[in-house]
Amino acid sequence: MDASLDALLKARLAALSEAKRLRRLRPWQWCHGTLHDVDGRALIDASSNDYLGLSQHPLVKARAAGWAERYGAGAPASRLITGTRDITLAVEEKLAAFKHCEAALLFSSGFQANATVIPALAGLKVGAGDTANAPAIFSDELNHASMVHGCRNAKAKTHVFRHRDLDHLDELLRQQAGKPGRKLILTESVFSMDGDRADLPALVQLAERHGAALYVDEAHATGVLGPQGRGLAAECGGGVDVVMGTLGKALGAFGAYIAGSRTLIDYLVNCCPGFIYTTALPPAVLGAVDAALDLVPGMDEDRRRLADNAQRLRDLLAQRNYDTLGSSTQIVPAVIGSEEDALAAAQRLEEVGVLAVAIRPPTVPTGTSRLRFALGSTLDEVTMQRLLTTVATHLPPHPPKTD
Ligand SMILES: *Cc1c(COP(=O)(O)O)cnc(C)c1O
Repeated sequence: MDASLDALLKARLAALSEAKRLRRLRPWQWCHGTLHDVDGRALIDASSNDYLGLSQHPLVKARAAGWAERYGAGAPASRLITGTRDITLAVEEKLAAFKHCEAALLFSSGFQANATVIPALAGLKVGAGDTANAPAIFSDELNHASMVHGCRNAKAKTHVFRHRDLDHLDELLRQQAGKPGRKLILTESVFSMDGDRADLPALVQLAERHGAALYVDEAHATGVLGPQGRGLAAECGGGVDVVMGTLGKALGAFGAYIAGSRTLIDYLVNCCPGFIYTTALPPAVLGAVDAALDLVPGMDEDRRRLADNAQRLRDLLAQRNYDTLGSSTQIVPAVIGSEEDALAAAQRLEEVGVLAVAIRPPTVPTGTSRLRFALGSTLDEVTMQRLLTTVATHLPPHPPKTD
């Protein structure tokens, strides 16, 4: 007899535990916008993606509640059945205007968008029997797991280029020159684990030179970077073909979007299963997004404070000999090295009231386990001072390299 499913799963979990990679869900409590552990101890939150504090903003909460009250708790169906309402289209129009794009399309989550839009674009066939049009994908090695998932689901070969290495990308594109099919370049604008930025203007040029399309994930830039928080693609004057972003990070709500040309959106409505075969976003989420989009352009002051907080933390970490990996955003890694040391450092900080979660493989490459600080504009001066003092006191200087 074969082993039962549970027996196989248990064996896998035991192997993860043996390798000290077993993860468990930890419950947190939120009281009036501050983070508490299960024992009720308040912590300085340096690990959340609610970068502008919008999930707690009175206007965002009120519009979410108001739209739920007025339109109901859930959407009645998928978008192509009865799930498209005037409010759905109005939010999409607002998003398109915010991103300076012709059109935008809502998705249930960023994971769902990347996992299904990439195959829909890479599998593009114009007619039946159109097999010579084999496309190719070019993907930064540090792209998010959801993009990797999309690449694996695509009927296209994926060429992985070294992180932010445009010479390497150029070389790979040249090797594929003359081969038929649309080439698609994938990158994040702000990388989620390193906090560094892609050079989008250079990528736009490179894509043009090779006749490739450019797909940019703005999960961590939307609301935070670019003119009025419109993301980094907004600085490229329409050179990015496909802009993807999430609504559950700086916008404080939930869901995701794709923005681009009207034709792109019409195509996805017809040919992207992750859009077609799923229930529309509920009114409360639409209300929250609608309010967040009203607020974000006017939050330059908050964005400045956030950038300033991140710079102060980077300066402190650099003084203490930590590599912050080219971070120039609100995401600030402090590379520790081994998984055990990263976990121990996170635990030490948590004991003294600062939550900076340890990130380790497979999320990041082996040997680069790190503390990942994700700051928010809601950290006021007193709290920020406490955060810096705590790090200075309880995170020992990183030992110098021996080689
Ligand atoms: C968070 C994240 C996603 C996934 O978005 P969700 O809406 O949380 O599913 C996609 N890409 C990147 C770069 C992310 O950081």
